[in-house]
Amino acid sequence: CGIFGVWDHPRAAELTYYGLHSMQHRGQDGAGLVVNSGRRLRAHKGLGLVNDVFQDASFQELTGSAAIGHVRNATEGSHTYENVQPLLFQSQTESMALAHNGNLINADSLRTELEHEGSILQTSSDMEVLAHLMKKSSMETNETSIADALNQTTGAYGILMMTDDTLYAALDPNGIRPLSIGRLGDAYVVASESCAFDQIGAVFERDVLPGELVAINDDGVQSSRFAIRGQRKMCSMEYVYLSRPDSDVNTVNVHASRKQMGKELAKESPANADIVVGVPDSSISAAIGFAEASGLPYEMGIIKNRYVGRTFIQPTQDLREQGVKMKLAPVRGMVAGKRVVMVDDSIVRGTTSKRIVDMLKHAGASEVHVRIASPPIQHPCWYGIDMSTYRELIAANYTLEAIGELIGANSLGFLSEPGLEKAIVKDKSLHQGICTACMTGDYPVAKGAERVLTHKR
Ligand code: 5GP
Ligand code: SF4
Ligand code: MG
Repeated sequence: CGIFGVWDHPRAAELTYYGLHSMQHRGQDGAGLVVNSGRRLRAHKGLGLVNDVFQDASFQELTGSAAIGHVRNATEGSHTYENVQPLLFQSQTESMALAHNGNLINADSLRTELEHEGSILQTSSDMEVLAHLMKKSSMETNETSIADALNQTTGAYGILMMTDDTLYAALDPNGIRPLSIGRLGDAYVVASESCAFDQIGAVFERDVLPGELVAINDDGVQSSRFAIRGQRKMCSMEYVYLSRPDSDVNTVNVHASRKQMGKELAKESPANADIVVGVPDSSISAAIGFAEASGLPYEMGIIKNRYVGRTFIQPTQDLREQGVKMKLAPVRGMVAGKRVVMVDDSIVRGTTSKRIVDMLKHAGASEVHVRIASPPIQHPCWYGIDMSTYRELIAANYTLEAIGELIGANSLGFLSEPGLEKAIVKDKSLHQGICTACMTGDYPVAKGAERVLTHKR
C-alpha cells in the first residue's frame, strides 16, 4: 500500500490525488482520500485504480487545507469497499481519519480482546483496531493515546492519522516500512515513497524515524518517540521490486540499488551468453547492472504492454498466468539464435519466470540462463507484502535444481543474501539495515511477542 498526507495547502485534496497517482504501483485494489474541510472530514474513495476512483470526484467540493490518502493492495482484510482507506471515524465531539501501509501482526488477537470487552468493529481493517485502542486509552492528549495504542501493537507500519487540528505520522519501531516527510513551500507533505514529492514539486526533508510519532499542526512540527528505537530493518523488497526506481528509500536510490544487485549477481553467478535482457519494468535496472558487470550487451528482448496491470496483484493463479501472457512479448529479431541471460528481480510463485523462458525459447533463443537479482523467497512475509503462506512460494517447496527444471532454464542463479545487502546498505549504522526475513527466515519482529491488552480502564 501507499499513503500520502498534506498539511496546510489550499489544494490539499488535489495534491493528494497526484501523490497517490504516483504511487499507483503500490496498490491497485482501492484508493481514497479524506480532506479536512473546516472542522469536518470528508471522504472520497472507491475500489480500483486511482484514476477510476477519482474520475467523478469534484475537487471544487473537496476543499480544505489538510488531507490524507491511500492506495490499497489487499493483503489483509477482505477486498471490499468498507476496507478501502482512509477509514473515517466521526462522533459528535471528534472526527479522525486513518490510513496505513503495512501489517499489525497481532491485529486479530487485539480484535478478539476488543470484541470481548464490548467494542463493535465494522471492518476487517487493522486501522479500525487501532482506532478502538485509541478510544479506549484514557491518556490525556491525542499524542499519548496514539502512543499508548501503538505500543499495544506489533508489526510493520507507516501510519497517517488526521484529526480536526493535527496530522500525525508514525512508523514502526524497526522502520520496516518507508515513510518520508517533504516540504512544499510552507506546506508539509508525508508519503510512503519520495517519487510522490517529485510529482508535486515538493522537496524531501527527512524520513520518519523508527518508533517516531510526528505531529504536524498550526504550531509547527512536534516529534516524540512512542517506542524504543530498534535497528532499522527496511523491507528489502522495497528495493528489489516494490518501489519506483526514481524513489529514494531510506536515502538509497532504488534504481542505483537494483543496478548494484545486477552487478553483484553477475559476479556471483556469471553466464556464458550473447545478450542480457530484463523483464520490464521492475528488473530493467538489475539487467543493466548485470550487463555492465559482465561485459555483455544489454538488449530489449522483452517488451511490455503498458495497458495491463501488474500480474502479481491478480487474486488467483489462473488469472496470474493469463496476466503474464497479456503483459509481456518477446522481441523475436533480438533473441532468435542467441544465448540469452534473462534477469528478473525475484521469483515468488514462479509464474513469471516460467512463462518468460517459454516465450524466449519459442521466439528462437538457443539458451535461456535465468538470473534472479534477489535471494530465493522461502518464507512468508508478516509485514504487509503479498506473500503470506509457505504453500504459494516455489522456493519454499522445491530445491533450486528443481526450480530450474520447472521453469525450463538452461541454468539458474540467485543473488546471495550478503550480495543483496551489499547492494543496498551503505553503512551498517543503526539507521541503515534491511529486513530479509522472507529470504532468511530471520524475522525482525516475532509473532507472539506482542504485548497483550492488559489494562482494563
Ligand atoms: P512470480 O511470478 O514468481 O510469482 O513473481 C515474480 C514476479 O512478480 C517478479 O517479476 C516481480 O517483479 C513480481 N513481484 C515480486 N515480488 C512482488 C511483490 O512483493 N509484490 C508484487 N506486487 N509483485 C512482486
Ligand atoms: Fe520485506 Fe520480505 Fe521483510 Fe516482508 S519479510 S518486510 S517482504 S523483506
Ligand atoms: Mg517483474
